[in-house]
Amino acid sequence: MNKHIGIIDADLLGHGTRHPNLACLKLSGYHKAQGDQVDLIESWDELRRGDAVETFDHIYLARVFDFTPIPIDVDAYPNLSYGGTGFYFLPFSDGGEHMLPHEIEHHMPDYHLYDHFVAKEIARGIKATRFRDYQDYSIGFMTRGCFRGCHFCVNQHSHGVRFHAHVGEFFDPSRKYIYLWDDNVLGYPKWREVFDELAATGRRFQFRQGMDIRIMTPEKAKTLSEAKYIGDYIFAFDHPEERREIERGLQCWQQYNHKIAKLYVLCGYDNQDQRDIASTFMRIKVLMRYGCLPYIMRHENYVKSKYRGTYINLARWCNQPNFFKKKSYRQYCESNGEASATMRYMREFEHDWPDIAEAFYDLRWEDLRFSALHRQIFSAHSHMAFCRASML
Ligand code: SF4
Repeated sequence: MNKHIGIIDADLLGHGTRHPNLACLKLSGYHKAQGDQVDLIESWDELRRGDAVETFDHIYLARVFDFTPIPIDVDAYPNLSYGGTGFYFLPFSDGGEHMLPHEIEHHMPDYHLYDHFVAKEIARGIKATRFRDYQDYSIGFMTRGCFRGCHFCVNQHSHGVRFHAHVGEFFDPSRKYIYLWDDNVLGYPKWREVFDELAATGRRFQFRQGMDIRIMTPEKAKTLSEAKYIGDYIFAFDHPEERREIERGLQCWQQYNHKIAKLYVLCGYDNQDQRDIASTFMRIKVLMRYGCLPYIMRHENYVKSKYRGTYINLARWCNQPNFFKKKSYRQYCESNGEASATMRYMREFEHDWPDIAEAFYDLRWEDLRFSALHRQIFSAHSHMAFCRASML
């Protein structure tokens, strides 16, 4: 007998996300293929009314972020099962491979699960462009896992990058674009096959996780820069001690691609004091010198910091490229007004750590970028040699 399935995307209900939950799409696709009726549950009230146990044969609850609130007692629903990295982050995770049964994990996603929700949001005045990820993209993983074992990452227990799926498993030809959640595609030994498969779809695509620029090679840089890529090229610069590898990777990358790259900059994780803030500024400065844009990723521990206001300032300054490209940190803070909290945070930190402020507060992307361009033009040949030599 066909079943009635309810699906909850807790992150959507909790704080609103801009992209669909891939596990929810696969669950929906699998059940619809069995002939079941599948509904996205769009409000916690649908469960609080108390009739959910009768209405649905089964309810799935998915959560990506562990800070997303779950305002119901999940154990009170005998027909509810839950999963996702928001529930099972560090102790069990190997990158999420085991979280869905094989036949669901490898099922074509149902890209229409959110249709009613999207239509409702657009009808109440939210811009349709906000829902591009729901409407324009095929979504999936072609590889999973990573070899690096970063402690803050869902992949910390993963042992390497492995094949996950061919693009045909999740490619919907009616959709304009593809985006991928691969954890470290450049670390996959057969990375070229991934790019060849993507090219064969004829669609523009994007890798949404920060790619690993430390393992950039001339071949990877050339392939990526020649690909039908959509949006920013996004890499990561999470640890200050990676600086040399990051610079080598950027020099290699910039031999083949002059589009402005964006790099995630993790902060507030190792510690939350002036050392972490200086490290964050240092990484921002390095990226300025290469004409790249930092994107500040604040670990949730930043709220423990005496200088949490500085973390907020840094994210607002860097994550809005129009500000970042034109203004130094000091100019950005001043533009918020003399009496603003932004200025207070800036002054408090400068009072306590004048040397750090002197080193970084007045740097401007445009100035350092210009020197980078100048350097690039006059030493392209030697950079190319460095790029190749360091890969030997
Ligand atoms: S390199 Fe990226 S994907 Fe790999 S473990 Fe570190 S944070 Fe995770």
